[in-house]
Amino acid sequence: MKLVFASDNSNKIKEIQQLLPQDIQILSLADINCDVDIPETAATIEGNAILKANYVTEHYGYNCFADDSGLEVDTLNGAPGVISARYAGDHKSDADNMDKLLAELDGKNNRNANFKTVIALNIDGEQHLFTGIINGVIITEKRGENGFGYDPVFIAENDTRTFAELTMEEKSGISHRGKAVKQLVDFLNK
Ligand code: IMP
Repeated sequence: MKLVFASDNSNKIKEIQQLLPQDIQILSLADINCDVDIPETAATIEGNAILKANYVTEHYGYNCFADDSGLEVDTLNGAPGVISARYAGDHKSDADNMDKLLAELDGKNNRNANFKTVIALNIDGEQHLFTGIINGVIITEKRGENGFGYDPVFIAENDTRTFAELTMEEKSGISHRGKAVKQLVDFLNK
């Protein structure tokens, strides 16, 4: 079976292909000649995952899954959430996003937050959602060199290191994305 992953991130695609049964072939957006920047205009992380998966299924007729992720901070009522990538502006700078977040949380005692990934899967006329969440806290300064996004300011519950101080394998083992992908793979393996 061919299954489109609505992404052009070759690392993500390779990683997921390795976890799936051999009779499922993952195609990227480039593989199906889709060079559209699929609009991510929904108000929620779930909504954007669904928009992307539905775009591919409706325009190209393929079974497809799409993911969307973000950081939700309790005292900011779930912000930056769906706008995590462009919290400090459309230039999508990780450094500026973290600086803005640290400024917003300056002096706040409640620094609880979570990362969330939703995967929307359209398969044989049905839609399934898989959600992965990791709870933690936002610290007061950046620490660590690995990862991307808000990793240097996030420490997962029961840990002392930021996500940017973990190896890729350590992070995938506990992360929101790792949990959502595991649910997808378990479903497809059945
Ligand atoms: P995406 O939907 O996976 O592209 O994630 C959207 C944005 O959320 C990213 O650009 C980051 O700002 C943030 N984000 C998502 N996942 C992570 C993560 O694992 N670490 C740090 N930031 C993340």
